[in-house]
Parts: sequence; C-alpha cells; structure tokens
Amino acid sequence: MEKNGANRNIILSAKDLVKTYGKGEAQVHALGGVSLDIYEGELLAILGSSGSGKSTLLNMLGGMDQPDSGSITVGGRELRTMKDRELTRYRRDDVGFVFQSFNLIAELTAKENVAMTAEPSKGKNYIKEMLELVGLGAKLNSYPMQMSGGEQQRVSIARALAKDPRLLLCDEPTGALDYETGKQILIALEKLVREHGKTVVIVTHTQEIGRMADRVIRMRSGKIIEQTVNENPVSAEIMEW
Ligand code: ADP
Ligand code: MG
Repeated sequence: MEKNGANRNIILSAKDLVKTYGKGEAQVHALGGVSLDIYEGELLAILGSSGSGKSTLLNMLGGMDQPDSGSITVGGRELRTMKDRELTRYRRDDVGFVFQSFNLIAELTAKENVAMTAEPSKGKNYIKEMLELVGLGAKLNSYPMQMSGGEQQRVSIARALAKDPRLLLCDEPTGALDYETGKQILIALEKLVREHGKTVVIVTHTQEIGRMADRVIRMRSGKIIEQTVNENPVSAEIMEW
C-alpha cells in the first residue's frame, strides 16, 4: 500500500477529477479538478453547500460513476483501467454506501436487509453482530416500517458494513433525520472508526460535523477550497450543531 509522508496508508487516491454535465449554456462543472487521498482508519468529512459537487465526487470514489478525466487509484489499480467485472467487484466488495434515503427493502426484516449484501461465507452470526454493532440487537426481525428513521439508517449502515468494505462512503447520512437521531448515527459512525478501525467518509452540508472528523475537506463549486487536519476531533456525543 502507498504511504504518505507521515507513514500512513493511503487506501484511495484521486487525481484531477473533472466532471461536466450537460452542453452549451446548460453546462454544469460538477467537478473542476479534484484531488484527494483517503487514509486507512480515518474519519474524513467532506463539507460543502448543496450543489458543490459532493455527491458527484462520492459516486466516483465508489465506482458508481466515471469522471470525464482524472484518475482514481485503489490498491495500486486505477478504476478506469478495470474491466467491468473488476469494477463490479470493487463496487460490491470494497465499498459500502450509506445514503440519506436509507434505501432499505420494505418487504425484508433488518436481518434480511443486512443479509442481502453480506458475504455468503460470513453466516448468520455475523449479520447479527453487524446489527448489534449499530445498537440494533433487539430489532433483528423488525421491518423498516416498524422502525424509526434513525433505526432504519443504522440498518443501512449495518448492511454497508456486512461485506466488510475497505471504505464506508456516507452521503448526507443524517440528512433525513432529526437532530437527536442524526447524532446517534454520527456516534455509530465514529465508533466504527475509533473502536473498529474502519475508514469512513462523511459527506454533508452541515459544517459543524467537520469537528468530529480527523480531517476536513471543504468544497465549493466543484473544487476543494480547503483541507484541514483536526488534531483533537470532538466526540460526536458532545458535539452540537
Ligand atoms: P452536492 O452533492 O454537493 O449537493 P452534486 O454533486 O449533487 O452536489 O451536484 C453538483 C452539481 O452538478 C450541481 O450543480 C448539480 O445540479 C449538477 N448535477 C449533478 N448530477 C447531475 C446530473 N446527473 N445531470 C446534470 N447535472 C447534475
Ligand atoms: Mg449531494
């Protein structure tokens, strides 16, 4: 694995990502040359107001969308040079996605929703463990409709974790939740990094969420305008916004 100056493992490296939507007058420069590294075991916050290009960037990092130009390198391989099958495997196995809208299947219980993406070799116990990890040990057999928004979002985090991804990408994970519930989600994500060594990227327009991150990247109009390191991140528990 590539290392940076401080000898930290870089798990993903993006260089000069450009993405333009539309043509002529309707053209939108969603990304105007974005470069960033993601380090193993960090909590990275990507902040920016609505329309600044955050989702476009996250989708590219997760292999869901292709840049017009620029490169994304993961484990020594460039996404663009991967064959379809490899790219599918990357999306499926290496990246976990958490969306604002939960995206759970209504007809399946919490356990079944998580089982959908779990590695077949992992078994039933592992699925239970993932749900316990996000504090849902008592809701294994509940359907999405029987759960609060925060609980549903925690199922979606458990689901993303169930394939043991290298990277957990969260797009406005608290966007559809009230303050207290959003806080529970942030506490759960923080715990994954601090206690379980996961690598988590949170994209949000809520600036204050940056305070709990190890590193903060600020975007405006498709560009990174600032990158900062938090030597002493604030715990999500006491953070207010
Ligand atoms: P954010 O997630 O920060 O709100 P997005 O990445 O969703 O920003 O969008 C960045 C810009 O690109 C916005 O101006 C948005 O309208 C535009 N955009 C995003 N996706 C598309 C698309 N599929 N077609 C056209 N324009 C798009
Ligand atoms: Mg977005």
